Amino acid sequence: MAQISRHVVWHGTEREEQELVAAVEQHCGCGPPDDANEPCSAHQLLIANQATLDRLLFARRIADQLRREEGVPTERGRRGRAARVS
Ligand SMILES: [Zn+2]
Repeated sequence: MAQISRHVVWHGTEREEQELVAAVEQHCGCGPPDDANEPCSAHQLLIANQATLDRLLFARRIADQLRREEGVPTERGRRGRAARVS
């Protein structure tokens, strides 16, 4: 279990945390580091509240489970196969 901020705790795996951080960085709209504005909406998600992060993790996991049950490749599975092919 990883600590994302001092207010919330990530209850997912380390890999899930890395994927979350990568997604946030990809969608970050923050200004320069010395900018006094509030963090972008992607970064605000990381400090929102515990329930929000828990729901995000639940949604990711249930979506993957439903895809597997329907025989649809998961996003992670597709990325893994693409990485092996190239
Ligand atoms: Zn940001």
